[in-house]
Amino acid sequence: MAEKKRNPPWTRDEIILALDLYRQVEGAWPRESDPRVAALSDTLNSFWRAQGHEGATLRNANGVKMKLMNLRAHDPAHADKAGLKAGNHIEREVWTDFADDPRHLKETADAIRQAIVSGKAIHIEVESDEVLDPNEVEAPEGRLLTVMHHRRERSRKIVKAKKQDVLKKAGRLTCEACSFDFAERYGARGDGFIECHHTKPLADLAEAGNTRLADLALLCANCHRMIHAKRPWLSVDELRALLDSQGKNGGETL
Ligand SMILES: [Zn+2]
Ligand SMILES: [Zn+2]
Repeated sequence: MAEKKRNPPWTRDEIILALDLYRQVEGAWPRESDPRVAALSDTLNSFWRAQGHEGATLRNANGVKMKLMNLRAHDPAHADKAGLKAGNHIEREVWTDFADDPRHLKETADAIRQAIVSGKAIHIEVESDEVLDPNEVEAPEGRLLTVMHHRRERSRKIVKAKKQDVLKKAGRLTCEACSFDFAERYGARGDGFIECHHTKPLADLAEAGNTRLADLALLCANCHRMIHAKRPWLSVDELRALLDSQGKNGGETL
């Protein structure tokens, strides 16, 4: 693999892992030689090496320590002695999304770490927008888990099985949020067409195990896009409630 020289900017996934370490070491700032700093440095380097990045400075212990200091600048508890300017908008967003939710932070960080360690995170082109639809945003849980979500719900085998299951039970494929029916609207051309959305929390995705049909929801293309269009992503129930509140849910309200 060609060696890439420039150190890539820290991604949202990496900053989530750094915030997880920040919460663990808070109040007792680690030295560069601290094994926890070394462990994060190793994890991040193995991720980037898999993307074709090499280099002694890539995510070395000093870089990890610097990132902890950057995060401290966002911490109201340390507002008096913030050494570094809080300039990075990704750090600020991650802080806002996770700093006050330790459980979600830990689950998400564990899932990202697991995705990296298990090798599932290889070749996801984190620096490119190609992996995401231009109308979609990366999930709060970061790029790795976002990509894993999309890979799962675009798996031909599982999508086919889900559609067959619903067809057998309901006789037609309709959007679970708005009741749209492609066959009804587009005739033969829409026959059998619908999208699958994976409903499991992203932090559960890194776990081994196959997708269950019950983990998938059938959605029309519009509703699926709307779920992924902004952070945080919506659940199918939340999207349905939103449609209800707009009074536009397929005219099915009595
Ligand atoms: Zn829909
Ligand atoms: Zn989806």
